Amino acid sequence: MAQFIRSLTGEEKLDILTESARYDVCLATCNGRTGGGSGRMRDPSSPLNRWIYPTALPGGGMVHMLKVLMSNVCVNNCSYCFFGAKRNCGRRTGFRPEELAALFMGFYRAGEVNGLFLSSGIKGSSDETMADMIKTARLLRDRYHFNGYIHLKILPGIQEDQVREAILLANRISLNLEAPSRAHLEKIAPDKAFGRDLLKRMDWTGELIRRGEGRTASQTTQFVVGPSGESDLDILRTVDWVYRERYIFRSYFSAYQNPDDPLRQGGTDKDSLLREHRLYQCDFLMRAYGFRFPDLVFDDENRIPLQTDPKTAWALLHPDFYPVDINRSSEEDLMRVPGIGPLSASRIVEWRRENPFRYEEDLKKTGCVLSRTKGYIEFSGRKSSSEQPPLFEAEPPRGWRGGQTPLEEEKIGTTYEYPAQKGKTVNYLFKGKNTIPTWCR
Ligand code: SF4
Repeated sequence: MAQFIRSLTGEEKLDILTESARYDVCLATCNGRTGGGSGRMRDPSSPLNRWIYPTALPGGGMVHMLKVLMSNVCVNNCSYCFFGAKRNCGRRTGFRPEELAALFMGFYRAGEVNGLFLSSGIKGSSDETMADMIKTARLLRDRYHFNGYIHLKILPGIQEDQVREAILLANRISLNLEAPSRAHLEKIAPDKAFGRDLLKRMDWTGELIRRGEGRTASQTTQFVVGPSGESDLDILRTVDWVYRERYIFRSYFSAYQNPDDPLRQGGTDKDSLLREHRLYQCDFLMRAYGFRFPDLVFDDENRIPLQTDPKTAWALLHPDFYPVDINRSSEEDLMRVPGIGPLSASRIVEWRRENPFRYEEDLKKTGCVLSRTKGYIEFSGRKSSSEQPPLFEAEPPRGWRGGQTPLEEEKIGTTYEYPAQKGKTVNYLFKGKNTIPTWCR
C-alpha cells in the first residue's frame, strides 16, 4: 500500500503531485502519455520545468500552467486510475491551501507560470477535498490578488454551494464523465454515481455559467476511451447530448492507459491512440463544421472507421453531394469538402465576392489542402479535375452506415443548438429539454 508522507518540503510535494498530475486522467489537457511527457515545456532536467506545462486553452491561446493535484490520496477505486485507494502508486501526499497558493505565487511573480490547473484525488470526502481546492483558489484571488487563469476540477458529488463558489473563482471548470452512461461508469468507477454525482453537478455548473453568475467562461468534460467496453457511438451520442443539455464547451478523450503498467509508459496501443484521434475529429466536426451526430459514420459494430477520417467517410457515403461549387455553395456545404475547414470556408465566401475563384491553385491562399479537395469541387459549374475522389470508385466498406437516425425519444421537437458553442446552430430533432435519455441513465 502506498505511504502518506507529511514531512516533505513544498518542492518535494510539487515533485510528487505534479508528477502525479501527469497520470491523473482527471486532468484533461495534461498529456503525460509518454515517459517524456509530450506537453512539457523547455528543458525537462530543470526542476522548475518539471512542474510547468504549456497548455492550449479550450477557446484558443496558450498559458504556462502549473498542473498539480491538491492530493494524490484517493478513497475511490476507479479501475483506469493510477491513484485508486488499492493501488501502490508510490508516495502519497497533499498540500495545505496556504502552502500551494504561496508556492504558485512564487512562480507567478518570477514570471514562470500564468495559470493554475488544480485537480485532486478524493481525500476523505469530495466535499472536504473540494473545500481545500476552493480555499486555494480563494487565497489566490483575495489574498494575492491573482487575476490570471485558474482551472478547477469539479469533484464528483460536491455540494451545490461549492459548485457556485468554484464558478466565482475559476476561469474554466471541468467535470469528467469518464464513461458515456451509468452502466459503463459502474464498470470502471463503482464509487461514482453517473446521474447524481456527475450529471447533476454538470447541470448546476452549466446553468450558472449560462447565466453568467461568476467568472467561469466554460465547462469541459473528458471520457476515458476503452476500459468500459463502450462503443464510439456510445461516446459520441453522449458527447452530442451534453453539448445540447449540459452547457459543455468541449470534450476530451483519453485512450486508456493501463495503470498497472509498472513502467507507467502508458500501455496504450496504436489503435487506441488512433481511435482517440478519430473521436477528436468527430467531435470537431460536430462543434465546428456543422455536422450533426446522425451524420457521423459508424460500422456495424458502432465503431468509427479507423482507417478513414470521418469527413471523408461521410463523403464516401454521399457521392451525390459533390462536386461542391467553390463560387456558389454555402459555407456549410464548403465545409463538407475534405481539405476545407471552417477558416478556409469563411475565407472562400468572403474573397469570392470580389474575385471568384477560377483554378484549384487559387485556393492555396485560403488554407485549403489541395491534395484532398481534388475531385470534390468545381468552379462556377466547371469541374476542377476530371478525376473522381479515389474512394468514390469503390463501394463503401461493408457495414458502414451514415445518417444515424436519432432514437425515437429524441425525434419529436425542433431545431437545437449547442448553446455553449455560442452561435453554432445544429439542425436536429429532439424531444423535451433536460430529460436524461434512457441510454444515458
Ligand atoms: S476519483 Fe477515481 S479517477 Fe479520480 S483520482 Fe480517485 S481513483 Fe482516480
